[in-house]
Amino acid sequence: MDCPHCHHPLSAIEIETSDGHGHSIEECLNCGGHFIESYLANFLTLETTRNVDSIIPKSRAIPDTNPVCPKCGQPMSGIKDDSVPQTVTVFSCPNNHGDFFPKNQLYLFKQAQQSKIYFHKLWGIPLKSAFAVLIPILVIFSLATLLPSILEQATTTQETRIKASEILTPPLITPISSTQVLISFSTQKPAKTSVRFTEGLTKTLIVSTVPQTSHLLSIEDLSPGTLFKYIIIIDTDGKPVSTSEYTFSTP
Ligand SMILES: [Zn+2]
Ligand SMILES: [Zn+2]
Repeated sequence: MDCPHCHHPLSAIEIETSDGHGHSIEECLNCGGHFIESYLANFLTLETTRNVDSIIPKSRAIPDTNPVCPKCGQPMSGIKDDSVPQTVTVFSCPNNHGDFFPKNQLYLFKQAQQSKIYFHKLWGIPLKSAFAVLIPILVIFSLATLLPSILEQATTTQETRIKASEILTPPLITPISSTQVLISFSTQKPAKTSVRFTEGLTKTLIVSTVPQTSHLLSIEDLSPGTLFKYIIIIDTDGKPVSTSEYTFSTP
């Protein structure tokens, strides 16, 4: 793949998300830009983005044109929404192949995201929506290779075994505070989904009431320093199926 901006070959580097999953992102050693799968920037730690963006590029000349997606060649457009401040430049592929952050923009985006989260936490103001801080989460078909083969037979009779391909990504956990986390995941087919807690909480939370492929749940009022276990229930055709157990802990 070539850099969306300066067309030098991109180099893959390995990073770890805030929930401990390994991923690779693409870095341009010439202009210092980063091409990242669509949702992934949301789940990098501030420290990771600082390290990643500390690259010293060979050239500082960045074309004054919109970048093109290295996967499909379509022009990428700037993201203008609540999650990206006007002072930060992020381009996204119209076909959801990924986001391009010119030099320093990844770190700046992450700082802005963290500041907004801290602001809401400090002032006790609930976030209007998770998308006030998250770059829009889109379906990531390229992640199909990361499928967990851990979906199991559920315990209730209505729920049947499903193929691992029903769920596209392992759920990503983003801590917003010590009492609030976001859980997001994608399904291959549009599905109604819910999350049923098996430890730490005793309730089932509806994630998507209408069938869709991107699922996001914000959970508030959690106990700090607690281990939670949950399963995801996926309903594509009136026969709900469930995943095996996932876990996360609040800070
Ligand atoms: Zn470049
Ligand atoms: Zn593309």
